Amino acid sequence: MSLVSSQALQMEMPSVQRERPVVLHVDDDIGSLLMAEGALEEAGFDVLHAADGKEAIDMYRSHEPDLVIMDAVMPVMDGFDAIKGIRKLPGGLHVPILMITGLEDLDSITRAYDEGVTDFLTKPVNFYILPYRVQYLLRSKLTADALRVSQSKLDNAQRIARLGNWEWCLGNQSMSSSREFGRVMGLLEGQVVDNWDEFLDRIVDGDRQSVRVMAEHAVDEKQPFNIEFCVPDLHGESTRRIRLEAEPYCNESGECTHMMGTIQDITERTNAQKQIHDLAYFDLVTGLPNRAQLNEQLRYTLKLAKRNQGKFALLFLDLDHFKQVNDTLGHDAGDALLKQVSGRLVGVVRGGDMVSTTSENIDFDEIESPHTVARLGGDEFVVLLSQINRAEDAARVAERIAKSISTPYDIGEQRVSVTTTIGISVFPADGVTTEVLMKNADIAMYHAKESGRNGYQFYSRQIHEQALARFSMESELKNAIENEQLTLVYQPKVNLDDGSVSGVEALIRWDHEIYGTVNPTEFIPLAEETGLILPLGRWVLCEATRQMQAWIDGGLEPIIIAVNCSSVQFMRSDMITDINTAIAYSGLDPHLLEIELTESLLFKDIELGIRSLRDMKALGIQVAIDDFGTGFSSLTYLKRLPVDKLKIDRSFVKDLGVDAGDVAIVSAIITLSHNLNLTVVAEGVETRQQYDILHGFDCNEAQGFLISHPMQADEMQQWLIRATNRVERKVS
Ligand code: C2E
Ligand code: MG
Ligand code: MG
Repeated sequence: MSLVSSQALQMEMPSVQRERPVVLHVDDDIGSLLMAEGALEEAGFDVLHAADGKEAIDMYRSHEPDLVIMDAVMPVMDGFDAIKGIRKLPGGLHVPILMITGLEDLDSITRAYDEGVTDFLTKPVNFYILPYRVQYLLRSKLTADALRVSQSKLDNAQRIARLGNWEWCLGNQSMSSSREFGRVMGLLEGQVVDNWDEFLDRIVDGDRQSVRVMAEHAVDEKQPFNIEFCVPDLHGESTRRIRLEAEPYCNESGECTHMMGTIQDITERTNAQKQIHDLAYFDLVTGLPNRAQLNEQLRYTLKLAKRNQGKFALLFLDLDHFKQVNDTLGHDAGDALLKQVSGRLVGVVRGGDMVSTTSENIDFDEIESPHTVARLGGDEFVVLLSQINRAEDAARVAERIAKSISTPYDIGEQRVSVTTTIGISVFPADGVTTEVLMKNADIAMYHAKESGRNGYQFYSRQIHEQALARFSMESELKNAIENEQLTLVYQPKVNLDDGSVSGVEALIRWDHEIYGTVNPTEFIPLAEETGLILPLGRWVLCEATRQMQAWIDGGLEPIIIAVNCSSVQFMRSDMITDINTAIAYSGLDPHLLEIELTESLLFKDIELGIRSLRDMKALGIQVAIDDFGTGFSSLTYLKRLPVDKLKIDRSFVKDLGVDAGDVAIVSAIITLSHNLNLTVVAEGVETRQQYDILHGFDCNEAQGFLISHPMQADEMQQWLIRATNRVERKVS
């Protein structure tokens, strides 16, 4: 970057033209003065005289003549110094000065031009021609004045518009630009950008590349373009937003040689637009989106949900007895309360765990909350949950909102309590248009108010009841985990060739005080959806390993204990840590622990699956693929998985001996497993016939009601003792 002389910003004004232009004639030769005066006055000029340079400067200052005729050699001060002096006076810079000199040497001529002379005449002067010469000089001065005024007006207009123009020569990449261009680009006064790369360097990092690419594209295509970008301001403290417009210029052979364009500082305009937007779309008191923005968001959400067959919910909130706060504490207190309420609403909705957290769900911690909290006015708010899996998700948020809102507020010196009532509508069950969904959420809110405030109500009774039922089951399950109402039962597995016990599988049960024993198929999915599977899974690992070690300590032969693991555990929790804890806690030999995983989760992210399996294997534990055949596993992947066992799902075993297809599948799975050096276990063996067929196919192990139903721990212990004795008897 280079510096050019700095000039104060000043507006050139057109000079007022005199009726008879005034000429100052400076000469120490009185004869010349008189000759010239006659000719000039006759030609319509008024003439002033000065006898030396010093007098000339004084005369210029007091009379501001339109033109100066200056002799070169004079006493007191010569013409050269006089010109220098005049050029420094106000208005003196542009006044035409005609130097008359007897000297013909080039040095003097050069010096005269250096001092700023406009033109010169050599002596002897032709006094007939002099007035013409003066006239031409005055005329060109007027043209130059007009040009300067126009340039100055343009500068001024550019300054007012914060708009600069520029030209980029593609041949040598040089750039020229107007003064305002520099100011818009945040340059110092006098600093200029003189090539394209320097210009790009001024643009902030995030925008530079797009300007470069766009410009190159425009050059290639010979197309105009425009783009917005940011540059640091003069002090480098903030950025200014700039809009650039450009057009290509081509030579006669159609080759693009130049780009010309403008840049304009649009920071204020952009800010004003944002302000207008904010006023139109945000609530002034709380800063939350207002009804207009909610409607837009709602339309967008609806479109998306229709396309993806998704679900979303609208929560219509009304503060209970808010009017009393306004009436007793005043509107300022009311506004302060509304602000705090909105802060809490946003907090709840942004909370990462507000919607169920199965692995299929979006992880709300990782994305900006897709949900909207809006204030409709007064004490009415709407929460749009734009992605839910089921109605309970909305119920869960409603519960949390109600709880959060009901915590007391400090408003000035006062402590205030309010509650809220919430109506919920769910797409698509409660409506398929934004209007209907809003109306139904509102209706639901009124029903909720009627049935006692501080609660929530779904528009549809059926959804409401379902949500409540699942909800209460969820909290009961939570209690069950905390209060150890969960137990494990055990089911043995036997080797098919000698009938000896190869291991036992731990299966969870929920001993519910009202429903009795609840099977895992009924509550594991719920535990997975709510994340309760994580503490539950940890408990199972600890309890199963503890039990096996207790049996060994009680004298039983060590056998493998298999524990089922949910996909959510596998994907989300640090399973290795959980396994290590269980092993350390129980003291069980890790080789006696087997983890059963269902195939679907392994193939969801094969690389992650392989990594986690390797970590498990490194601990020395066994890994089995459970329910094999029900997922979508690819046999090629199976080869890559570091597992020890396959458990053929009982749906294939069930019809062995009945369905030829199943026979073929089971036989193929067994052959394949053996080729891959995997042990095969058949699940759900209920009949002797199934057992024999499996035996015939060389299946390694069997598990099922034929051998034993799952049993309580003490029953299992007795069974194991008897089984060992049986085998021992057989052997002896
Ligand atoms: P699974 O791992 O395939 O367990 C075998 C299931 O088949 C058990 O059902 C068992 O009772 C049942 N079963 C065993 N033999 C036979 C038979 O001959 N015929 C028939 N019809 N069924 C038989 P259960 O205990 O209801 O468990 C169901 C599923 O729940 C398990 O399938 C497993 O996926 C899951 N599960 C059980 N316990 C846990 C646990 O602690 N954690 C996790 N994450 N999942 C578990
Ligand atoms: Mg299993
Ligand atoms: Mg199974």
